[in-house]
Amino acid sequence: MENKIIILGAGIAGISAAYHIQKKYPYAQIKVFEKTNDWGGLCGGFYVASSLGDFWFDHMVHLSFADNAYVQNIFHTSSKPIRHIPIPTNYYNNIWLKHPAQNNLYPLPIEEKIAVLKDMINNKNKKENLSNFEEWLYAQYGNYFTENFPLKYTRKYWSVEAKDLSTSWVSNRLYTPSLEEILQGAMSDQTPNTYYAQEMRYPESGHYRSFFQTLKEQIDITYNKEVSMIDTQKKIIFFSDNTQESYNHLISTIPITIMAKITDKAPKEVIYAAQNLKATSTAIVSLGFKKNDIAKNLWFYIYDEDKLFARVYSPSFKSPNNAPNGCSSLQAEIYFSDLKPLNVIINNQDPKTYLLNHTIDNFIQMGICKKEDIICQDFRILPYANVIFTHNMESNRSIVLKYLADKKIISCGRFGEWDYLWSDQSFLSGKNAAEKLELKK
Ligand SMILES: Cc1cc2nc3c(=O)[nH]c(=O)nc-3n(C[C@H](O)[C@H](O)[C@H](O)COP(=O)(O)OP(=O)(O)OC[C@H]3O[C@@H](n4cnc5c(N)ncnc54)[C@H](O)[C@@H]3O)c2cc1C
Repeated sequence: MENKIIILGAGIAGISAAYHIQKKYPYAQIKVFEKTNDWGGLCGGFYVASSLGDFWFDHMVHLSFADNAYVQNIFHTSSKPIRHIPIPTNYYNNIWLKHPAQNNLYPLPIEEKIAVLKDMINNKNKKENLSNFEEWLYAQYGNYFTENFPLKYTRKYWSVEAKDLSTSWVSNRLYTPSLEEILQGAMSDQTPNTYYAQEMRYPESGHYRSFFQTLKEQIDITYNKEVSMIDTQKKIIFFSDNTQESYNHLISTIPITIMAKITDKAPKEVIYAAQNLKATSTAIVSLGFKKNDIAKNLWFYIYDEDKLFARVYSPSFKSPNNAPNGCSSLQAEIYFSDLKPLNVIINNQDPKTYLLNHTIDNFIQMGICKKEDIICQDFRILPYANVIFTHNMESNRSIVLKYLADKKIISCGRFGEWDYLWSDQSFLSGKNAAEKLELKK
């Protein structure tokens, strides 16, 4: 059989690659191998049982704002969407502000508003060539706002200082308001929503991954299969359960940092480049409540550094299917990386106990819930969350990607391309990988 195709990883990119190859080459033999016992990867999730029924938690926020017509058609054919207008909020020093904070300063004390506005209006940090994210922030927002909002948030979300990040990922992710918008937002809470997506969608039935469930049902996935070594000369994949599989064509969606270590014997410069590619991991604390009014919006950001979670989202606000009747739910995200390890953040305490207690205590202090409202809780770690855009990232990424391409491995998806891809982009990345194959009958 000349057309045996193996796909590594059953996240949205792997499933998309398998689906598109099958559609184009119905005679091909396609097998997907997944390390865990479930499909969806980052777009997947898990149930947590409670006395009132099961809660579903996606792996972190997950809402679709895909604008590509092809992706929308696939997602919405698989499951009709619930449409939300995204209105996130911010928590800062016991104050709730609309998002983004820079043009919604209204609830701040007057002295603080003056400090922010003075620095924004007399901003002396603007310059032509901005060499890092910190300079970018100072140039956009002046000193006071930068130091009290995004510099703190960057430490929590990216696990590094803003000066250690490039600006290549920023795009429209941070809003740069006009002076009129800043002044209006400082004097009034009647401001328009300036979030970069006007609509966020979630499946009406099922959970986030239901957007590509019909595709998954058409392909062959084998679970609990962790790839541990690849011999590209003999075209054999070895798994950690001591089994092996031959292939003619190989598509991988697993992180290129892992691929560099397990593909043949990579030269030192490839290993070195892979070691210098960094990603954040997330510790997630998921809580279910017996009341339906705990969650007030889809998600919120937390700037205060004594609160370790950077962002909290509500699965039950996304869809009532995610919680039993009359209940609601929240999930807090605590980020860490090799550059800021979790044991340093929590001072070598047991992560599960410490972060569950930390999150619950802070939610109570913030007025979000009472202890007796909580009817289920869960703690887990997701090893790969976001690629960190350190200054040398792009050059290191090129070295590893070239090595894999030379070995005739097609690498795709968020960690296969090693980029800041949303789920729709990861889906298209899988489709592009499929299009690179040329099979003969
Ligand atoms: C915090 C956060 C929030 C996000 N929110 C949104 C959002 O709101 N909207 C949106 O569109 N996108 C969102 N995304 C992005 C989205 O999650 C990704 O684009 C997408 O899920 C990536 O899919 P993938 O298939 O490329 O990778 P993954 O989902 O990571 O899939 C890779 C698969 O490979 C498997 N694997 C790993 N190693 C091995 C191995 N050795 N052997 C076999 N299998 C292996 C993994 O278990 C996994 O199933 C978010 C991401 C994060 C981190």
